Amino acid sequence: MSKKAAETRTRVLVVEDEESFIDALKVGLGREGFEVSVARDGDEALGLFAPQRFDVILLDLMLPRVSGLDVCRAIRAQSDVPIIIVSAKGEEVDMVLMLELGADDYVTKPYRLRELVARIRAVSRRREARDELDDVDEEIIQRGDLRLDAQARRCYVRGEEIKLRKKEFALLRLLMENPGRVLTREVLIDRVWGHDYVGDTKTLDVHVKRLRGLVEEDPKNPVHITTVRGVGYRFESATNAE
Ligand code: CA
Repeated sequence: MSKKAAETRTRVLVVEDEESFIDALKVGLGREGFEVSVARDGDEALGLFAPQRFDVILLDLMLPRVSGLDVCRAIRAQSDVPIIIVSAKGEEVDMVLMLELGADDYVTKPYRLRELVARIRAVSRRREARDELDDVDEEIIQRGDLRLDAQARRCYVRGEEIKLRKKEFALLRLLMENPGRVLTREVLIDRVWGHDYVGDTKTLDVHVKRLRGLVEEDPKNPVHITTVRGVGYRFESATNAE
């Protein structure tokens, strides 16, 4: 993490209309060192928002007046600030659509504060890393006990080199380049296979399964490559970096 980032508090805009959640987030996130601002509906959120003003947006979907979906779209049109969508349990949410609209991650109510804090840190770290890199492709990517050398096309797990096939390497690289971010099946397939992807939709899962067998200590309980049910996969960074 950069010196500047360590000195500056992460500014979170909480867009939420339920007072009990607002109170809990103000206290909980404040205690974790975040600077919390609150908007109680979509209009207020768009009024408060300005590029550079916030580091992370925590956006409830069910809001009075302007919906979370429209807030997400409007913010994304003017900024690439990380957006975490919050939905209620049982709420009909097209997560694939949300991610296509530019949301970075999502959590479902009721959530644990610890989980939420880890997600906020992950998306803001990713943003910082991207700012520092200034869009130059990383050649060496180190995440926890995984190390990927993009140029030499080599991968190391806890210091040991593992052999990866071309598509496996491309898939792992894409995941590792986007820690903490949900990547939809469509995005993964498009970026790794493109037009080469024919027929069998299980190909992606087969590749993920093989990758887990190689990089996870316990492939049945993956800590690096986790499944986001019905949506895609996510490379976890928060847990092993703390
Ligand atoms: Ca709500």
